[in-house]
Amino acid sequence: MARQIVIANQKGGVGKTTTAVNLAACLAVMEKRVLLVDCDPQANASSGLGTYAEDGNLNLYSVLFQPEKGTQAIVPTALPFLSIIPSSQDLVGAELELADKLGREFYLRDLMESVSRDFDFIILDCPPSLGLLTVNALCAATELLIPLQCEYYAMEGIAQLLKTFTLVRRRLNPTLALLGVVLTMYDKRNRLSGQVKNEVRRTLPNFLFDTVVPRNVRLSEAPSFGKPVISYDIKSVGATAYLQLAQEVVRRKAGTV
Ligand code: ADP
Ligand code: MG
Repeated sequence: MARQIVIANQKGGVGKTTTAVNLAACLAVMEKRVLLVDCDPQANASSGLGTYAEDGNLNLYSVLFQPEKGTQAIVPTALPFLSIIPSSQDLVGAELELADKLGREFYLRDLMESVSRDFDFIILDCPPSLGLLTVNALCAATELLIPLQCEYYAMEGIAQLLKTFTLVRRRLNPTLALLGVVLTMYDKRNRLSGQVKNEVRRTLPNFLFDTVVPRNVRLSEAPSFGKPVISYDIKSVGATAYLQLAQEVVRRKAGTV
């Protein structure tokens, strides 16, 4: 069965998409069969891998309400072991359309059930909110990975996310477990970075990834070439970090808090 990992944090700009794309790509070069699912209407993960809605492909929105067509929305990428279900702006409407549906939290889960058998890993990239799309992703996954930027209020954000995690576990998806927190855009010269790191270690012992993703300009340049960082600059510290994170993800078991 595929390991289904949701990358979530309701804050924007904390490195969700960068982590989703590069973790997916690094697992793929380890010859794991990976499906990246772009659940954000902003479609940054899709464009970051060079896929665009206007290519005429089916996308997440077009198959969300017809899971039997799910496999038709899977698009190959330049990496042989990596495929993607791209997003599009239409997905904004999905949030509204889901709102008055019975079982509105489980549409993505049903879709994933129809496509997961061909993959070792499914990586779900979320929008920056705790709305229905994120809740759908939390219900479709078995593991939660939280990217955290070391800034003021980072811990408040995490507390709110963990509250949602606990609620989802209790009410909607008891199989969801916490895989871990990964620090992103880390700057070891910044004192706040060290403080946030210690705080995560204290409040979530066993859930802090050893891998820390440093701030690295290669990581921010790669998407404009439609490439994950390992294809853009394999020698960069960003590439090294995500290769290391992928190895940790393969070894690590998710747990409960
Ligand atoms: P989110 O998906 O949480 O909104 P992104 O992954 O899109 O966050 O990251 C926000 C911005 O920061 C993007 O421009 C991205 O390229 C940049 N970025 C993310 N991680 C890093 C990093 N480790 N080093 C430098 N820039 C980064
Ligand atoms: Mg994003």
